[in-house]
Amino acid sequence: MDLMEYQGKELFRRYSIPTTPQGQVATTPEQAESLAADYGVPVMVKAQVLTGGRGKAGGVKFCPDAAAARDNAERILGLDIKGHVVRKVLVEPASDIAEEYYLSLLHDRVSKGYKVIASAEGGVDIEETNRTSPEKVVKVDVDPTVGVTLAIARDICSRAGLGDKVLDAASDLLVRLYAGFVQSDATLFEVNPLVLTADGRVIALDSKVSIDNNALFRHPDLAALDDDPAAAGGDDIEARAKALGLQYVKLDGSVGVLGNGAGLVMSTLDVVSQAGGRAANFLDVGGGADADKMAESLSLVLSDPQVHAVLVNIFGGITRCDLIAEGILGALERLGDVPQQLVVRLDGTNAGQGRSILTEAAHPNVVPAEKMLDAAERAVALAAAGDRPLIDTTTEETTA
Ligand code: GDP
Ligand code: MG
Repeated sequence: MDLMEYQGKELFRRYSIPTTPQGQVATTPEQAESLAADYGVPVMVKAQVLTGGRGKAGGVKFCPDAAAARDNAERILGLDIKGHVVRKVLVEPASDIAEEYYLSLLHDRVSKGYKVIASAEGGVDIEETNRTSPEKVVKVDVDPTVGVTLAIARDICSRAGLGDKVLDAASDLLVRLYAGFVQSDATLFEVNPLVLTADGRVIALDSKVSIDNNALFRHPDLAALDDDPAAAGGDDIEARAKALGLQYVKLDGSVGVLGNGAGLVMSTLDVVSQAGGRAANFLDVGGGADADKMAESLSLVLSDPQVHAVLVNIFGGITRCDLIAEGILGALERLGDVPQQLVVRLDGTNAGQGRSILTEAAHPNVVPAEKMLDAAERAVALAAAGDRPLIDTTTEETTA
């Protein structure tokens, strides 16, 4: 889960990582103006979106007074930055910058451990610096049993070319950054730029923070920050699925895919593709899918208007296929009129019983299937034939 800049800075403050003076978020130009008037000093108005390069895109503005804060907020709110529409701006007292550096901590997939990246060249695209002058970017693997001690931090900062006047403060900041990074189960803490202010302090001017989703249950306060899908620019169905604890991903085809277990769902996508179709989305119901869970899951998959047919692929382990079959029928009953056909492939524990239940019920929307490829071929054919005439249109055509 990614945090916006203002949320990342809040987290920094919790771990006593020096950062910019406390600001506040505004959603209208008037709010931005009144905040700037309250601060009574030059402020920054900064787009809060989950992407970098906001400065270059015109999303970060220095404002000498309240009127400028209002004008800039007006310009920035609604701006599209790399597909992210700005709904909030951070208004905070501007910092007087003498120098800009780069500092980050991350999970490194190659070394399978923590890594510190530091450079005296900050505020710019670090990938670009790394490409053109790799010697200016210092990368150090961290031994997690030792962590980042002050001595290690000093060594990293001085090798990165941070001069004597900032070495103490930057090293101290790096030690705190590491503690915060580990304690919040983060996968990324990026500070670009880390700055030396005109009055000699070293602070994090920007924050880019990602928290490990698998550890979010340990940080309910951080997980709660993710409750604003509209502001985050997320897919609405994805937000509903998340709220129900289901894994849902939107894709661009026409077959809705519902399965249990990540591996099975992934191979179902492959088989849909093998059958010449494309998935519209996929949803992993996880373990123990009862009628309630099936109803919620089906309603999510079906509420995507691009879904012309659904492929339900369930492997019964602890979950019994007879219960799944009943769950699907119960779900359809609850959902009422559903225009899409469901091809249901059951395998594993009590698969035969599950299929018999479906066959006996002879629900007009359910096509039972035994083999995965066969099921996928049917779903793809139904989706194609569907290019589903909307029910209303059909009614009009028949009455006309
Ligand atoms: P990014 O472009 O999304 O990485 O946004 P940043 O927060 O890093 O801001 C981009 C640039 O705006 C920084 O590198 C600074 O040069 C400038 N900037 C941001 N905040 C301030 C500030 O408080 N004072 C001044 N003078 N410049 C700032
Ligand atoms: Mg930045």
